[in-house]
Amino acid sequence: MIMNRKAIKHFATLCAKGVNDPKTTKPHQLPIYATAGFEFETSIESINSFQLQPGTHVYSRYGNPTVEAVAQKIADLEAFGTGKEAFGLLTSSGQSAVHLVIQSLLKPGDVIITQGNLYGGTTELFKKVFGQSNIDIQFVDFSSKEAIIAMLQKYAQNKVIYIETPANPTLSCIDIQMVSDVAKTYGVLLIVDNTFCTPYIQRPLSLGADIVIHSTTKFLHGHGASMGGVVVGMDKELMKGKIWEFYKLIGCNASPFEAWLIYLGLKTLSIRMKTQSANALEIAKYLESHSKISTVNYPGLTSHRDHSLACRQMNGFGALISFDIKGTYEDAITLMDALELCAMVPTLGETDTMILHPASSSHVKIDKDIRMQYGITDTLIRLSVGLESPEDIIGDIDSALTKIQV
Ligand SMILES: *Cc1c(COP(=O)(O)O)cnc(C)c1O
Repeated sequence: MIMNRKAIKHFATLCAKGVNDPKTTKPHQLPIYATAGFEFETSIESINSFQLQPGTHVYSRYGNPTVEAVAQKIADLEAFGTGKEAFGLLTSSGQSAVHLVIQSLLKPGDVIITQGNLYGGTTELFKKVFGQSNIDIQFVDFSSKEAIIAMLQKYAQNKVIYIETPANPTLSCIDIQMVSDVAKTYGVLLIVDNTFCTPYIQRPLSLGADIVIHSTTKFLHGHGASMGGVVVGMDKELMKGKIWEFYKLIGCNASPFEAWLIYLGLKTLSIRMKTQSANALEIAKYLESHSKISTVNYPGLTSHRDHSLACRQMNGFGALISFDIKGTYEDAITLMDALELCAMVPTLGETDTMILHPASSSHVKIDKDIRMQYGITDTLIRLSVGLESPEDIIGDIDSALTKIQV
């Protein structure tokens, strides 16, 4: 409605009303639609808008133009090259994206078949939150096709397969095409967390996955200034039906401002991933050559267990590396404190290089024998490589390594 100024007789009314949208200009960049609701000209328009949900705008928890534009862009990136259409929903965090998918697809008694080395928050979400709803979580070794088949045959209930590749801490890879072929044979949906790769490096939908989720907090936004998540799938009925229905009811939508920050980040995704991947390969090769380092986990190294699989399903090998130094827990702490360029931050996927010593940070509250089972040794260090010149990062690590005697 165009506001009729003449109808305003009092100061308080003028204060309380919004302004007429100056629709005379065409913004080149996506505007932030910071509005809870959308106005209708007529009751007929209101009736139609509510009936045509999703797709029309009525209330921002259901759908918002800024949020939808960014979700669609990520969906297009994930579907790129397939010739098919994908649909996305942008959420408030990666965790809420995972939560939304599982809550939409499973009910008490159902089963999540997954790997033991998922992102820690996801495993906890499955156990603590979905465990309360009697949703069972079963771990399987995804490098064995027979083991996956045996697991699928063992549980007659409704189930989904949920994977992440490459996975912490060893950056082991799972053959997405193989898993999706098996899943299809048994009529089970395959969900892939593609956070570490982004669609620049790996596109699970093109390899047969049904749903891709991300923590956009990491590489998709890429600047560490926003939190968000996304769910992408090609099944329109599922995405715009049940999953959207749960999305609006749970209220896990992203805010327009966060969506806009992701929008800015996405523009440089290609160049960031390309450079960060190339830098990581150079740094991984340096680490592998150093006498004070015992193991380097990076799928781009020919020494990595899954190198040939990574060459097949990835375009570049990503920006994450983990390595073990020779020596003790104390030596790892000494190394961390001696670094002057690599930032000690418990996240990943930003423009600068970040380093983490899981045993003294993210896993400090977990019993040593349990974390050791997952390969989180006292001397394991994780690097999220940034856009700096790799020579400077190598120089920083090199001089820090002189501080430890092994
Ligand atoms: C960070 C992360 C998540 C969780 O995302 P948030 O945005 O922190 O909620 C899920 N999966 C992976 C692989 C992650 O790195």
